[in-house]
Amino acid sequence: MAHELARTFSVAVFDRRGPVLGSTMASTAMLQWELDLPLQALAEKIGEANAGRVYRRSRRAVDDLRAIVESSGIRCGLKPKRSLYLAGDDYGARALAREAEARAAAGLESVFLHPADLRPFGIERTGAILSEGSASADPARLAAGLLRRAIDNGAKVYSPVEITGVLQGGDHVTLVSDAGVEVRARHVVFCCGYEFPDSVPTHGAKIISTWALASKPLTRAPAWLSRHLVWEASDPYLYLRMTSDGRLIAGGEDEASPTRHADPKAIGPKSQAIVRKLKVLIPDLEIDIDYAWSGAFGESTTSMPLIGPIPGMPHGYAVMGFGGNGITYSVIASQIVAAAIRGRPDPDADLYNFR
Ligand SMILES: Cc1cc2nc3c(=O)[nH]c(=O)nc-3n(C[C@H](O)[C@H](O)[C@H](O)COP(=O)(O)OP(=O)(O)OC[C@H]3O[C@@H](n4cnc5c(N)ncnc54)[C@H](O)[C@@H]3O)c2cc1C
Repeated sequence: MAHELARTFSVAVFDRRGPVLGSTMASTAMLQWELDLPLQALAEKIGEANAGRVYRRSRRAVDDLRAIVESSGIRCGLKPKRSLYLAGDDYGARALAREAEARAAAGLESVFLHPADLRPFGIERTGAILSEGSASADPARLAAGLLRRAIDNGAKVYSPVEITGVLQGGDHVTLVSDAGVEVRARHVVFCCGYEFPDSVPTHGAKIISTWALASKPLTRAPAWLSRHLVWEASDPYLYLRMTSDGRLIAGGEDEASPTRHADPKAIGPKSQAIVRKLKVLIPDLEIDIDYAWSGAFGESTTSMPLIGPIPGMPHGYAVMGFGGNGITYSVIASQIVAAAIRGRPDPDADLYNFR
């Protein structure tokens, strides 16, 4: 958001932590356009035409992020990847075959794989969807690179500064900091990760707990894995990818609790559970855990984000990037909010707004 807005506006960023120490630091950074909710399930909730728009917009956002990274020269190990979405408890082979057809009809590059097509991957499942157009990156270097480019364009970053209040003015907004400092701005954009500000409606979104791990570098893994993101149609789902220095990153074992992630005793058993599932899925993997961590995670009923003007707060915008696509959504959010502030509304803004 700061990167996009700083191209045309005078921008100040406030963070109660140091820069890049929010949920971005915990992210496993699978840069996917596929939502947690399949296209067909999303169509049941918001209609077929809108679901197609949402999926195509996400698809474009991954390309846009790659273009931003390349044109800004941000070195964050961003690598184009295919994604392999495996049949699981939630959606079996038949459902995935229908999903692949629906995606192809919506103009998305997904094909259904039969069990025989999965043999080269050494994976035994009843089916899967193979899709083009995803990517992965180091999320900390990506966010830091974007912030640095924003600073090059004049943005100022103030931290640690907590915003504790918002005062409405006629043509402006005043933010109040924990030190009692007042900051007057023409517009405010809340990008608070999963720490939802009180003044922003969340429409039934929930905070859950999630766990992730990274192996040591140069881990032994099948060659195809470095070119694919892998996840499954189960709840909770297991997901994995390789980094550019040969670490395996994997996550899952989500729990509905909003606080369990803060329990350090849970990390050991959760990591072991993830490793057990990984070994069942890809027996050839060598997994020597280097880091294991947990985090809060926001979920919405549609797995879509909320982006746009805050109802009842003129000049106030918010970005709530729910689900496993938070980074993809941040690209969409920067485009929609910047377009609104520039007075040229984005044609997809209606899909994501708070009303
Ligand atoms: C374990 C895990 C795995 C994930 N995996 C993926 C993935 O594979 N792909 C993907 O796309 N997304 C993933 N996500 C989600 C994604 O990482 C996040 O959606 C994204 O990083 C959020 O970025 P952000 O800048 O909006 O929020 P954050 O990085 O959380 O930054 C928000 C900042 O706001 C600050 N803040 C909050 N309230 C205030 C206040 N009142 N005053 C001042 N500062 C405040 C916080 O201190 C924080 O630093 C994952 C998340 C987790 C936890």
